[in-house]
Amino acid sequence: MDDIIRLENIDKIYGKDIKTQVLNNINLSFKEGSFNSIIGSSGSGKSTLLNIMGTLDQPTTGELYMNGKRTDNMKKNELAELRNDTLGFIFQFHYLLPEFTALENVLIPNHIKFSKPSKEALERANELLDLVGLQKVKHNLATNMSGGQQQRTAIARALMNTPKIILADEPTGNLDSESTENIYNLMRQINERFKTTFVIITHDREIAKKADRVVEIKDGRIVLDM
Ligand code: ADP
Ligand code: MG
Repeated sequence: MDDIIRLENIDKIYGKDIKTQVLNNINLSFKEGSFNSIIGSSGSGKSTLLNIMGTLDQPTTGELYMNGKRTDNMKKNELAELRNDTLGFIFQFHYLLPEFTALENVLIPNHIKFSKPSKEALERANELLDLVGLQKVKHNLATNMSGGQQQRTAIARALMNTPKIILADEPTGNLDSESTENIYNLMRQINERFKTTFVIITHDREIAKKADRVVEIKDGRIVLDM
């Protein structure tokens, strides 16, 4: 399997006058189709690392490659296109649009590219909502769903443009243990079925252990990789 994401000598320093080094010479790569977790205590640099991987943030130094293509020197519009085509994001707070239904929220990544959804896009959104078990509530407003249902909607939305990679930052941080387990099983199924690469930040070690690979980060350095 080839590396789908590769980080080379990544440093991240925040601040101009008072500098804080948050990432320290990170070298890390992920195989296409793999299911990975990143653990580490609060403030260790997990979100910073994931945001750099997702091109939402820039490293101070170092190189990022996606599918073998260097991305850290790409222009803004080139990056936006790459993100929309290649990456899906799932966050702890799902950022669904509250005044839209689950189905409309799932269609948003498509809407960014095309003003009106095609028949195929609508079909795909409906299939994804079936896949995440929301066929019955797909016309509910995002606010009229449980936390677990909202996070399922966010997962369906992340899948809308068939991304090769899904980056998730504590996707179950707000959920009870049963919903947490369900959401992980769902992500696993998606990984197996579509060969989508997953990188998931979690502080739940039990959940992390279920991944193919666990990377632990401490004070901005990788301290464990197994
Ligand atoms: P984690 O996700 O592991 O909790 P973060 O990556 O969010 O850690 O943060 C790592 C460190 O970087 C923390 O000390 C945090 O305060 C600091 N940090 C994060 N974002 C910024 C920022 N935009 N400006 C300055 N410091 C930041
Ligand atoms: Mg974080």
